Amino acid sequence: MTTTRFHAPERLDEAIRLLAADDEARPLAGGQTLVAMLNADLLSPSQIISLHRIAALKGIEKRSDGSVRIGAMTTHAGLARSDVLRDGHRLLAQAAGRIGHEAIRNRGTIGGAVAHGDPSADYPPALVALDAVIEAVGPKGKREIPASDFFQGFLTTALGQGEIVAAIILPPSLNQARTHYEKFARVEGDFATVSVAVALWRGGVRIALGGVGPVPVRSAEAEAELQAGQLSDAAINDAGALLVAASDPLDDVRGSADYRRRLIPRLVKRAIRAAQAKDAR
Ligand SMILES: Cc1cc2nc3c(=O)[nH]c(=O)nc-3n(C[C@H](O)[C@H](O)[C@H](O)COP(=O)(O)OP(=O)(O)OC[C@H]3O[C@@H](n4cnc5c(N)ncnc54)[C@H](O)[C@@H]3O)c2cc1C
Repeated sequence: MTTTRFHAPERLDEAIRLLAADDEARPLAGGQTLVAMLNADLLSPSQIISLHRIAALKGIEKRSDGSVRIGAMTTHAGLARSDVLRDGHRLLAQAAGRIGHEAIRNRGTIGGAVAHGDPSADYPPALVALDAVIEAVGPKGKREIPASDFFQGFLTTALGQGEIVAAIILPPSLNQARTHYEKFARVEGDFATVSVAVALWRGGVRIALGGVGPVPVRSAEAEAELQAGQLSDAAINDAGALLVAASDPLDDVRGSADYRRRLIPRLVKRAIRAAQAKDAR
């Protein structure tokens, strides 16, 4: 039987030191994924480093340049009801409110979800659509990684040994956008079969899909088509087809690859029309 040591440091540098010194150590956030993996014997870490007492990982703060910094230990429920996230940034709150069910949202954190890198999770497409940046801290210091580079494959992220997600930063620019998060799941509380995050602003469109590839899927051609076609029905249909071509879905318990391809154009249209219906800025 493996013995696991438990630590609950109060300082971020102490957590980093413990993690960097042992590649079998794991950080613990909300435990909604980690504890399930321990219970299923999928992991047996030598050390668990709880992040709960580290003040530097907490809080949602609007900064003077209009960007928003979300501490990694912010729960999904805290994010969903935050009044710091306004206007276009509500996209992330909307995605947080669609995660699992209440018990999961009360414990699970944005840092844990992002670090886990599940391609069917709700945050990855929303973060890509909002041009978010992941603030990672490790033994070599702090670095900022664009969300579009952070998610690298199935359960694979850009985090290196000993690095943790410290915060998520939403840039001010897309706060002006009209945004919407559309999720299709088999039942309420499940991961997405397909999800669509949309941001529309004067002169630009961004769409990121979840659940249809190992990382969030975008198509520059689809976004150009939507912009040139001024979001007409024809342009949305063409963009939907381009996004289907850019996707790489799997067959799994949440739906076949073919079913997912059929969902994409419908959900894209629904998401764009819902974003347009929000107040213009
Ligand atoms: C029944 C159920 C339904 C769910 N439904 C959904 C859903 O619909 N949509 C969705 O998106 N998610 C869903 N989830 C996952 C949920 O969002 C989890 O909260 C999330 O994946 C992990 O967050 P956590 O804070 O609990 O992290 P933990 O379980 O504590 O950790 C997860 C992993 O990340 C690592 N980690 C934790 N924090 C950090 C950090 N700051 N830096 C680096 N590594 C870190 C851990 O070592 C572990 O490997 C569901 C989970 C369950 C159990």
